Amino acid sequence: MNYNINEENFVGNIYQRFPVSIKKGKGCTLWDIDGKEYIDCMGGYGVALVGHCNDRVINAIKKQAEQLITCHISLYNDTRLDFLNKLFTIAPTNLNKVFFANSGAESVEAAIKFSRKYTKKTGIIALNGAYHGKTFGALSVTYNEKYRKSFLPLLDDVYFVSYSDSEKIEELVNGPNNKIGTIIVEPIQGETGIIVPPVDFLKKIRSICDKHGLVLIFDEIQSGLGRTGKMWAGQHWDIKPDIMCLAKGIAGGIPMGLTLLRSEILDCIKVGEHSSTFAGNPLACAAGSATIDSLVEDKLVENSEKIGKMFKEGLLDLKDTHKIIREIRGFGMMMGIEMKFDIKDILFDGIKSGILLLYSGRNILRLLPPLVMDEDITKKAINLIDKLLYNEEKRRNV
Ligand SMILES: *Cc1c(COP(=O)(O)O)cnc(C)c1O
Repeated sequence: MNYNINEENFVGNIYQRFPVSIKKGKGCTLWDIDGKEYIDCMGGYGVALVGHCNDRVINAIKKQAEQLITCHISLYNDTRLDFLNKLFTIAPTNLNKVFFANSGAESVEAAIKFSRKYTKKTGIIALNGAYHGKTFGALSVTYNEKYRKSFLPLLDDVYFVSYSDSEKIEELVNGPNNKIGTIIVEPIQGETGIIVPPVDFLKKIRSICDKHGLVLIFDEIQSGLGRTGKMWAGQHWDIKPDIMCLAKGIAGGIPMGLTLLRSEILDCIKVGEHSSTFAGNPLACAAGSATIDSLVEDKLVENSEKIGKMFKEGLLDLKDTHKIIREIRGFGMMMGIEMKFDIKDILFDGIKSGILLLYSGRNILRLLPPLVMDEDITKKAINLIDKLLYNEEKRRNV
């Protein structure tokens, strides 16, 4: 049976889709319905952080499913408490509270609502190229015109600034009838093409926030949890935010979003002012605990740094032989290969050749492999990418 054809009848055409139907996964390998194998450098857009069907996650889900699947947060639950205890062993030390959500966009919604109430200011500075999700609030701080233009008007008082221009930020904050209360930043931009900020940028933003009493939100939904070779991408520059958004891989593939906050910020929110029915449900919490165990005990953050380095060196070698590569960027298992052309053919060729890759813009290949990747598969992946680039050069006659 071919499920692909039927899916489209129901879900419409709102996602770009690829001609492959995935049946099974383990670690960084996927198999389609015909049993063909793929190296997964797409990593479910970063969700497959601790690997597909991670044993710890499987066991936790099985055990919890037999005990209790749902429990509203108005009732206490021991699985949720276990998860919270684990979460705050890895969280930045200044963030002591959390709001439970179910997706990245939801965690951003909570962040901007709470920050507005705490600062009593409506203005938000976001950065050019930013991606924070597509619900109305999150979309308001997302940069890409393509996502925004059909849904205007969005939130008022959002100001976009270049991903390097701290002077402009200072100017806006000092401006006449200044409304700015919040700055929201991805420490490394994912969606836009694995953009790494200039060395001092986050430090300058942090000091502007400190000087003016602004709330700094880090959206670590893609870059967090070891993805970049450190637990938090902000650690590369030694910078802590006041609020941090998480989602994607936090619960091993079960939906969960989290908004971590400094105590004072959450403390200003009153009973009923924000909520979510699924918040902190035991199944997601059990999977979340298993994910943190895997990150810590299986040393996946260290592996992300080590394998990421090897992967990046391999890609830098490819840049010497393939002139169609413009730049290699990223940290750990969050890498981008900027090409001189649209990469569509390379992605489709990848599917034929047994490797799944991601778009980032039209011309940037994004790699978000599971952090469990080993040296052998990394070598295979680099060889496959080499082949894809060679084929692309043949197609384009360069
Ligand atoms: C994926 C992502 C989001 C949105 O998460 P959803 O779960 O799709 O709503 C927000 N910010 C960043 C940085 C992301 O990578």
